[in-house]
Amino acid sequence: MSIDIKNIALLPGDGIGPEIIRPAVQLLELVGKIEDIKFEFKEGLIGGAAIDATGTPFPEETEKIVTTCDAVLLGAVGGPKWESMDYSVRPERALLALRSILGAYANLRPAKIYDALVDASTLKKEIIQGIDIMVVRELTGGIYFGSPKGVEELSDGGKKGFNTLVYTTHEIERIARTSFDVARARNGKVCSVDKANVLECTELWRKIVTDVHRDYKDVELSHMYVDNAAMQLIRNPSQFDVIVTTNMFGDILSDEASMLTGSIGMLPSASIGGEIGIFEPIHGSAPDIAGQDKANPIATIMSVAMMLKYAFGMNGSYDIIDKAVIKALNEGYRTPDIYQDGGTMVGCREMGGLILDNVESSAGAL
Ligand code: NAD
Repeated sequence: MSIDIKNIALLPGDGIGPEIIRPAVQLLELVGKIEDIKFEFKEGLIGGAAIDATGTPFPEETEKIVTTCDAVLLGAVGGPKWESMDYSVRPERALLALRSILGAYANLRPAKIYDALVDASTLKKEIIQGIDIMVVRELTGGIYFGSPKGVEELSDGGKKGFNTLVYTTHEIERIARTSFDVARARNGKVCSVDKANVLECTELWRKIVTDVHRDYKDVELSHMYVDNAAMQLIRNPSQFDVIVTTNMFGDILSDEASMLTGSIGMLPSASIGGEIGIFEPIHGSAPDIAGQDKANPIATIMSVAMMLKYAFGMNGSYDIIDKAVIKALNEGYRTPDIYQDGGTMVGCREMGGLILDNVESSAGAL
């Protein structure tokens, strides 16, 4: 019998990227052993590391690796070293190029509270207990990609900076469908967030989402203006199941949702829609803690879980990893970002090792 092989493009990137990718790779190797799948890895340069080595944040060699794999696992890019560079060549440009090349138009960002961490949130326990939100952010359109954009000189000696918010029917339809499909597999509720009272583009967004909803009558749809959504996420987050929104609103709301759960170091993401998905933690390269074994690897470990579920349909493996993370937290293990009195402080390596041990023992118990 031939063994199933999955090719994974590994892009560790900058700062804590290489540290958090390490346990993620070990986890994939372990799942491979358990499930009889061979994960093969090809590592590519991206971001600042790629600029230093090749002069560009997204080298051709990396493009070749990501377009010929089955899934991409990304660490994070950026850092102070490259901050003075022009926007067009900065490390973060590589992220836009990667998403665009792979057509990964739907960014799934779960914000789920772990019972063991309810006290780590800045919000009251009764407000956040049990929250389980999935933000579906449109990723390859909107104001981050629209043209014209730029900064121009004005005749009065001043300057004019401008970006353009653009969405087509096609772009809105496909992200709406993704959100309804995701909601069907969860609690059946979608809240579409826009600014239809002010921005014509999102008036179109609201109309198209409503039209697509005709095919998903089993899913409950509501609409909310983004300013209200920002407030409701803090006031009463458990009202939300799936939130679908534009690129920029999703960028902001998903970071807000992440803080409900205690630490940005906990939250994974999946960027899907094209043939090849990108799986990465939502946090950045955390230069302030890079190289100190202080990074929380859980966001990256859960990004691997999302890869197994969304790229390879391995829902059972997702559940095993989720339970392994819960067990480590319930036993009191904490990286510094989620540490509370009475817990056991561990580093990135040790937290990764504990979760791997839990995966191994739960697989052994099957
Ligand atoms: P950041 O997410 O890197 O860090 C914000 C804070 O959260 C820091 O205090 C950091 O120590 C902490 N943190 C982040 N991840 C953590 C983890 N896994 N464990 C423990 N603590 C963690 O955001 P920033 O400081 O605004 O940005 C740093 C660099 O990362 C910038 O160059 C930025 O452009 C880049 N960035 C990259 C991505 C990406 O690669 N997807 C996303 C956001 C920011």
